[in-house]
Order: sequence, then C-alpha cells, then structure tokens
Amino acid sequence: MSEATKSPVTMEKIESLCKRRGFVFPGSEIYGGLANSWDYGPYGAQLKKNIKDHWWKFFVERRDDMVGLDAAIIMNPKTWEASGHVANFTDPLTECGECHERFRADQVDMSLPCPHCGKGKLVTPKTFNLMLKTFLGPTEETADIAYLRPETAQAIFVDFPSILNTSRKKLPFGVAQIGKAFRNEITPGNFIFRTREFEQMEIEYFFDPKKSDWNERFDHLKEAMEAWMKAVGISSEKTHAVEIPDGERAHYSKRTIDFEFEYPFGQKELFGLAYRGDYDLSQHEKMSGREMRYLDPETNEKVLPHVIEPSLGVDRALLAILLSVYREETVKEGDERVVLKFPKEIAPVKVAVFPLLKNKPELVAKAREIYDSLKQEWQCEWDDNGNVGKRYRRQDEIGTPYCVTVDFDSLEDDAVTVRDRDTMEQKRVKINELKTYLTENLK
Ligand code: ATP
Repeated sequence: MSEATKSPVTMEKIESLCKRRGFVFPGSEIYGGLANSWDYGPYGAQLKKNIKDHWWKFFVERRDDMVGLDAAIIMNPKTWEASGHVANFTDPLTECGECHERFRADQVDMSLPCPHCGKGKLVTPKTFNLMLKTFLGPTEETADIAYLRPETAQAIFVDFPSILNTSRKKLPFGVAQIGKAFRNEITPGNFIFRTREFEQMEIEYFFDPKKSDWNERFDHLKEAMEAWMKAVGISSEKTHAVEIPDGERAHYSKRTIDFEFEYPFGQKELFGLAYRGDYDLSQHEKMSGREMRYLDPETNEKVLPHVIEPSLGVDRALLAILLSVYREETVKEGDERVVLKFPKEIAPVKVAVFPLLKNKPELVAKAREIYDSLKQEWQCEWDDNGNVGKRYRRQDEIGTPYCVTVDFDSLEDDAVTVRDRDTMEQKRVKINELKTYLTENLK
C-alpha cells in the first residue's frame, strides 16, 4: 500500500496539474490571454458536466418536490430594478492616487498607503455596480441597455407564475437552475475562485410560512447540501458553516449561513444558504403589476410564498473538489504518484483500456474490442503509449477509477487485468464478466 505524503496541497500544484492535463487553462491564450478568464479543457469540461449532472440528479430528478428551469441570460432590465441589483449590487471601489491600482475598499485598510506601490494614498471610495452591461440592437443608446444576469435566481422568481401554471406543483416545492452568471468583480483572482464569468447552481424552495416551519425547511436544505457535498467529494473537515449574525444579513433574511471552505489562500465562501422571506416575489409583484401568488387549493386563499435559497458556484465547487481529492503518495521508495481520488460518479474518465504492447496487432485488436464495448457505457480512454506503470500514473493524475490491461495471457484465458486507482490492487477479470464487474464497482 502507498502512503500519503504530508506536503499540503497548494494552488500552484492544482493550477499546474489543471494546465498540464487540460482540466483548466488560461482563456484566449494565443492573444496573450484575458485577465482572470479560464477555459475548461477536455477533462475539465467533463468533470464540470459530471458535477452539474450529479447536482441536477440529486436535487431535481430524484425528488418529486423539485422542478428545473433554464432561463435566458439577458432578462428585461426591470428585473434588476425590482430585485434591487441596479441600486444596491455594488462594491466600494478605491484607487491609489499614485499607481492607480484599484481595490475593494472593504478589503483594504484605507488609512494605510497603497498595498500595491506602498506610496500612494487611497482615494475616497466610490460605489461601483457589479452588473455587466450590454446593448441590445444596433444602437448604443441608454434605452437599449441590458445586463448579463449577475445571478441565476431572479429568473426563478420572474417565471414563478408560469412555472406554477405549467408544472401544477403544490407548495412546498423548489425550482432549480444551473447557468452562467456575470459580475464585473473589482478584484477577480485566485484561479477559478473569483471570475467575472462563472456558473451557478441555485434553488429557490417555495413554501407557505403559515403551513411550514421555515426552520425545518432551512435545516432540511442544509442537510441536503451537506449530503451533496459529501457525495461529490468535498472535504467536510475543510468546510465550515458560518452563521451570519443579525445586522450583517440582508434586511429581509431571517437566517443566512455561508459555507466556507479552507482554500489554500484562506477560508472563503463556497456557497450561501439564505432564508429570503417573500422579498423577491413581492418586489416583482410591485414592479410588474402581475400577481405572483399561489392559490391554495385547500383554503382557496392566495399566498405569497417564502423561499429558502441554496446558491452555489459550479467553479468554486469544482475547485473545492480538486483541493479535497488531490493526494501525493509514495508507492514505494523512489516511486511517487499524484492521484485525484474523485468519487467515481464524478471522475471525468471512468475506465482506461491498455493493450500491453502497441506493436502486437492481436493485443491491440482485443483491447480495441473491449474499449469499443465499454465506451458505450462509460467515458473511457485508450492509452497504448509507454510502459503500463507510466500509463497508470497518467490515469491516477486525472483520477480514473479503473485501468484495464490486455496482455498475452488475455489471448489464452479471455481475462484482463483490472487495476483499482485507490488500492492499486490488480485483479484478473473474465472479459465476459467485465461489464458486470465495472457496473458493480463504479456505483
Ligand atoms: P463573495 O462574497 O465571494 O463575492 P457572494 O456572497 O457575493 O460571494 P453570492 O451572491 O451569494 O456570492 O453568490 C452565490 C455563489 O455564487 C457564491 O457562493 C459563489 O459560489 C458563486 N460566486 C459568486 N461570485 C462569484 C465569482 N465572481 N466567481 C465565481 N463564483 C462566484
């Protein structure tokens, strides 16, 4: 058995692995990049999809009290007036009078000289709206200004009457959405932690406050999110639920918890869970003049539902997963491996298939046949390059749970060697039992 080394996981290690193996690399690189823009490469795109699919299955498909939504990114600008984003979605922006470096005033000590050049004085902060503006149509006039949504949640509120009419759901029920959001962050950074373009997975869980105890609903969603984090491999030891005290919460929120993760650059928000009352629905009711109420079929009363909202960034979740599953292990003296111990369901590649030697057609043909058949069921990878030990290391580094090797014995006994990522144990498995074996073990 291997031993885990003690050296801590750093952002340098994660970023370098992501870049080297094509999980995440700088965006627009051939043009010198674009600050804080990242692209998900082949393994990263698959990993991100697996994370989103897992969340969707967990919260939407496997429950009968949730439905999904996929709304437009650009919404009627009145949405953002009603939600309060036009007036209040701001950060205080300051600038150094000498070097003109910009900072969020709440993240620097305004009484000290500029943290960048060490000389200049920081100017009085201005409020800076974080919404990204765009123009619709051929003219750039004020009338055509629209915003790229700063969160996915508002569409759930705006579409609430249509969702009610079409899904015929009864309270309590939730609406989930996964999609891109945009914020003109003053200080993006820390790799994919804070970017101007990112993805969110959000739920608005609607209930009648007279019929449901909000504390119970809140605790239920907290537990569900904790179970989901565990299932995708986010370390519970590195995650902390921080209760936001009275006075620091939004005025309409009775309870908010920030779930913070111990990133190498500090303990910072991974996601938020907030009781938002009926704030959003009532704002949209006022602004649109449309009724946003639910007709209770038992009492015939119209109810403005309250909501609890878990709001999670996909990119932050992916980063927290990478930081949780990254291991450096000593296999034996002088033999080290880096392994990503993803839960099997989210591993980007499930099975790798190797012919022992690439210049032996009978081995290659048999391995190809197995590969083609497994590929119908799972994300598989073919590797015939270098010795098998090196191929194992390459698969460990991307977190592939199983490697299947076709060797000379396979031609005689119709069996293959299956090697387990975590235990590194190797087993002979009959080819006609291979799918059953993998189905059982990939659960
Ligand atoms: P922060 O305090 O880190 O700016 P926030 O409290 O503004 O976050 P919310 O508005 O609650 O964040 O957004 C919900 C979730 O969306 C966050 O918990 C995070 O996972 C994700 N998120 C928000 N902003 C960004 C960003 N700029 N880049 C990546 N993910 C983000």
